[in-house]
Amino acid sequence: MSQAAIDTRLLGNYINGDWRPALGGEQLDVTNPATGELLARVPLSGSADVDAAVTAARAALPAWRSRSTIERARWLFGFRQVLEAHQDEIARSVTREMGKTFPDARAEVGRAIEMVEAATAVPQTMQGRVLENVATAVDCETFRQPVGVCAAIAPFNFPAMVPFWFLPFAIACGNTFILKPSEQVPLTQELVFNLIHEHGGLPEGVVNLVNGSVDVVNGILDHPGIDAVSFVGSAKVAAYVYERAAANGKRVQALGGAKNFMVVMPDAVIDKTVSNIIGSAFGAAGQRCMAGSVVIAVGDAKAPLMEQLVARTEQLSVGDGLDGRTDVGPVVSCASRDRILQWIDRGVEAGATLAVDGRRPAANPDGAFVGPTILDGVSPDMDVAQEEIFGPVLSVIHAGSLDEAIDIVNASRYGNGTSIFTESGAAVRRYRHDVEVGMIGVNVGVAAPVAFFPFSGWKGSFFGDLHAHGQDAVEFYTRKKTVTSRFFSGGETGRFFTEQGDRS
Ligand code: NAD
Repeated sequence: MSQAAIDTRLLGNYINGDWRPALGGEQLDVTNPATGELLARVPLSGSADVDAAVTAARAALPAWRSRSTIERARWLFGFRQVLEAHQDEIARSVTREMGKTFPDARAEVGRAIEMVEAATAVPQTMQGRVLENVATAVDCETFRQPVGVCAAIAPFNFPAMVPFWFLPFAIACGNTFILKPSEQVPLTQELVFNLIHEHGGLPEGVVNLVNGSVDVVNGILDHPGIDAVSFVGSAKVAAYVYERAAANGKRVQALGGAKNFMVVMPDAVIDKTVSNIIGSAFGAAGQRCMAGSVVIAVGDAKAPLMEQLVARTEQLSVGDGLDGRTDVGPVVSCASRDRILQWIDRGVEAGATLAVDGRRPAANPDGAFVGPTILDGVSPDMDVAQEEIFGPVLSVIHAGSLDEAIDIVNASRYGNGTSIFTESGAAVRRYRHDVEVGMIGVNVGVAAPVAFFPFSGWKGSFFGDLHAHGQDAVEFYTRKKTVTSRFFSGGETGRFFTEQGDRS
């Protein structure tokens, strides 16, 4: 087979322990956004494919939930080594299909590995609670049991990590699992599922993968055989998934879009603050849900901040993420590039000035490139200060005081992440107490929590109660069963629940 034929092969679905073709439907091109090269074709599967995955996952559930907890954890220990051994290969796949630089992709895979590590703690984290003697010789205990068949729907921007916010925790807790990767970046999870397959040890049907788009999502939301749904993606789709899954009686968590503000106080350590702002705003070409996309410079912070911010942003090199000299890779697609360019024009039309203009970067014209861009003189009511642009575009607002900055942040309908840069403990205390945002960085530009803590967006950035990873993942992937017990031969009084209110 020629290289071209291999590269443009049609992907399959991983169901019941093996790959199989989708049962019909359209196909989409998967391309390298740095070059426009065609990498593969992905099937847009339908509800029949979802049904096949659910059948496999339901059949696998009784045996998997009955496996000892330590055995399930041990499988994750083993698979962690596999992921580490293939970290570079997985990272290259991320860069090739999504565009972020190779070091950034490698760090992403590192985060996926951390999720597996956190999930191996399940013999501790899944423990229930017991109280002896709730009445004389009567004991009460709460167990945690798996929820059942769980599905996750992923976005394009973290092809390796976001699916692993869910998969390791779900199966560690004894659930079986169905993943729908983003149709824009299906290759990385194909590679990961191949590694799962080769590593062995998971019974057929415990993990399944269905490629596709809206039809697969709707198939998941409507399927009576699916008990819980996790979603990560844009705000509008998150709201839709939350409502439809909940209306169908499913447990659901839906993580949506964001607009993240970075507040710089006059006493901030400017050079380090600028490094963090640049990493946050332009890393992954601004396509992180935790990307800082608005700087609020407070009082006298503005002039020294802008001087360094503009000079250092102009030095960033734009190019293929596999090239070691590249600071900023492409955005995910040409459609995305065109949308982002329109946003920059909209900012200028609204009265912002271009402190750095990235509209015509020196990079491969076949790629989807937008250079780092800074819009100065932005006011809080402009669309560019309120809407998620999801590209390397940073808006700068000037505020007179910390109070004014907090009001601007709290006026946003989103509440995913925010950062404050200052050496003042009092300013930090005030900010972290009053700001209506779920994840806060103090002199940290991307305050994405590590695997042992929840990814806790607020307001329009999150729909649900229990967040992704951390102890919330165990809460989400288990349901509680409470047992009250007594034994007549043990000398109990026999009066428990025999008289209204008498539990002696
Ligand atoms: P997206 O909403 O376009 O797609 C996400 C998933 O939903 C994909 O699997 C896609 O196939 C599916 N989908 C898309 N449109 C749909 C529709 N109309 N009906 C049903 N399903 C649909 O998001 P994206 O562009 O892939 O990802 C970027 C977005 O994800 C950004 O808004 C970003 O902020 C957000 N995100 C949020 C977090 C978080 O933790 N809050 C993390 C990563 C990304």
